[in-house]
Amino acid sequence: MTLDGMLDDSFARDLDGMYQFTSAAQAGAPQLVMLNTALAAELGLDAEWLASPAGIEVLVGNAVPAGARPLAQAYSGHQFGGFSSRLGDGRALLLGELRDVRGELRDLHLKGSGRTAFSRGGDGYAAVGPMLREYLMGEAMHALGIPTTRALAVVSTGDQVARDTMLPGAVLARVAASHLRVGTFQYASVHHGTEMVQRVADFAIARHYPQLAEMDGRYLALLEAVTQVQAELVANWMLVGFVHGVMNTDNTTISGETIDYGPCAFMDRFDPATVFSSIDHNGRYAYGNQPSIVQWNLARLAETLLPLIDDESDRAVELATAVIHGFVDRFNDTWLAGMRAKLGLVAPDAGDTELVNDLLELLHQQGLDFTGFFRSLSTFEPPPAFDEWTQRWTTRLRSEGRDRVEVAVAMNGVNPIYIPRNHLVEEALTAGQNGDLAPLHRLLAAVTEPFEQRAGFDRYAEADLAAAVGYQTFCGT
Ligand code: AMP
Ligand code: MG
Repeated sequence: MTLDGMLDDSFARDLDGMYQFTSAAQAGAPQLVMLNTALAAELGLDAEWLASPAGIEVLVGNAVPAGARPLAQAYSGHQFGGFSSRLGDGRALLLGELRDVRGELRDLHLKGSGRTAFSRGGDGYAAVGPMLREYLMGEAMHALGIPTTRALAVVSTGDQVARDTMLPGAVLARVAASHLRVGTFQYASVHHGTEMVQRVADFAIARHYPQLAEMDGRYLALLEAVTQVQAELVANWMLVGFVHGVMNTDNTTISGETIDYGPCAFMDRFDPATVFSSIDHNGRYAYGNQPSIVQWNLARLAETLLPLIDDESDRAVELATAVIHGFVDRFNDTWLAGMRAKLGLVAPDAGDTELVNDLLELLHQQGLDFTGFFRSLSTFEPPPAFDEWTQRWTTRLRSEGRDRVEVAVAMNGVNPIYIPRNHLVEEALTAGQNGDLAPLHRLLAAVTEPFEQRAGFDRYAEADLAAAVGYQTFCGT
């Protein structure tokens, strides 16, 4: 089974003015590096065909499935707070939309597929290493139960790309609930005006929030829905120590999926000021700032929707502001429920916030590994510096009266033992870039079953706090 006739083009049909039809650059000697057979199955695609020469030609952009009309999407974005009115897919294409086996429409998108009308100074290409990183991080997030775009395949192009040095080029085939971003709304608003914002909003509602379609006040409801999914998303990041690293409005989805695994990394030692990205000099996107940054990005979405929310602008501002303020409670609800679960607690208690914040304060003071600490809580007593806290926590646990084994099992079901630790990611990507994929497959095996302790995976559970000092990541260009 091929992809011929399988791809819908609703974005092209409905949102003229929000894209440019574009063809991919031809890859000289494509070779399949990674294929996500589990995701292929979810999409109802034939993995064997995808891995065949004809499938690889499609995955790298050399061949276009019959009926598909590849396009580069237009979007704007606040990057580190500064507005760029014209970003868009500078090195990516939407091939089309696929209906998965559950009946959901998913975008099939190529990244690293050559220059487009939105490339500005860039070459349109991607290197193997960063595309493998996106593959790995997306699968790890998915396995942690956190909404995310996912990689279907990485194909090396056989061509070199010029970065600091020459690197092997690659195309990532990415699957997303959609690629609509806050920046998509900003582009519609800035370049076309209210009528286009309405078209994009209606498209987003039909795609992600169809229950709102017939509602009066549906554009305010859309803002509420996106606020909710983004509040949940960032709460989930915080609960696993994930630092996205480049939370620009063009990297904030309308679907609530994590997108754009450039400079992201998981935090080892707990510190709210943790930053990995080499270009985030002011720590704008530090771990602890992530909730307020998402809220800020949602306010930018709200601005584009104001004319649709109410004819009277003061009233529109009042309504939208209430939703944006409501982000804080939405975030806290998910975050606190998640923290409670990490601590093996079930019933909400007035002292929860204090219990959790005191713990985080201690973790910070003691410089302990975030993931390792929570995982070990089900079996070991925390170190002596935590004694007073441990006593309060065990009193809470006892008051709930649950069976100890049951509590430990529940805790191990939410506190991962295997995450993509930075030193392991570097090791796997360096080998992968040089053609040795064994370490990457091994790491994937660990992080795609993150809660299940298994024999032979001990080193994947260990922090390397020495390596963590000064660890830097780079935007995936
Ligand atoms: P990102 O930081 O990956 O979210 O990218 C921000 C913007 O830069 C988007 O418009 C990308 O399409 C564009 N971009 C990133 N890398 C390249 C590249 N190598 N060539 C052209 N455009 C790029
Ligand atoms: Mg991006």
